[in-house]
Amino acid sequence: MERVTYHSQFIGYLDRNALMAVQLVNALTPGLHGGAPITIPCEPAPRRAAALSALPVAGDHHVVDRLDDLATDELYRLAGQLRLIFDAPDIDVAAREICKLLTIYRASPELVLENDGRWSLHFHSPYAGVAAARGAGCATAFAIMTEIGEFNRFGVCEAHNCDRVFFDASRNSCKRFCSSACMNRTKAAQFRNRRREANTPRIADIVADH
Ligand SMILES: [Zn+2]
Repeated sequence: MERVTYHSQFIGYLDRNALMAVQLVNALTPGLHGGAPITIPCEPAPRRAAALSALPVAGDHHVVDRLDDLATDELYRLAGQLRLIFDAPDIDVAAREICKLLTIYRASPELVLENDGRWSLHFHSPYAGVAAARGAGCATAFAIMTEIGEFNRFGVCEAHNCDRVFFDASRNSCKRFCSSACMNRTKAAQFRNRRREANTPRIADIVADH
């Protein structure tokens, strides 16, 4: 296998786990999305449904069957821990939170024989629970992105009244909003502000007129 092929496979692994962290935080932590409150359900059924919606495994019966109430609570706990990384005021605080996750979820490299006969690298035990496996993968993605100087690809939406998070996998890494809706809302508000300012006479102009 060419190095470049392996490299792109590994980047794919990192991106998938980074996006997993985003999905978990956005679906399972309270806050605001575009001005609308995000609340966490208390009843077991809606809690489990929300947790399942955060996992890109809707058709994976193996995971669906394992997501009992305890595993659901563990996923919510993981989402809260991931939120602390996004909310960290600087890279040093974020790195300490990432270190905690690496320890809690026992992230360690492991070769796993896949169904197609290939060996693939995972950072969680194949016997780990739903939350433990995802916690190890997310922690590893955060750690490697930090090490290669790309932690700034993670961010919190800059739109007014929104605290949802994002991961920017684009080449130039210039994302600022969690969604196109938030971006459009912010740009429309900025446009209105600029037009209002342009139509408001400056005090110096009023004084000069008199
Ligand atoms: Zn947003």
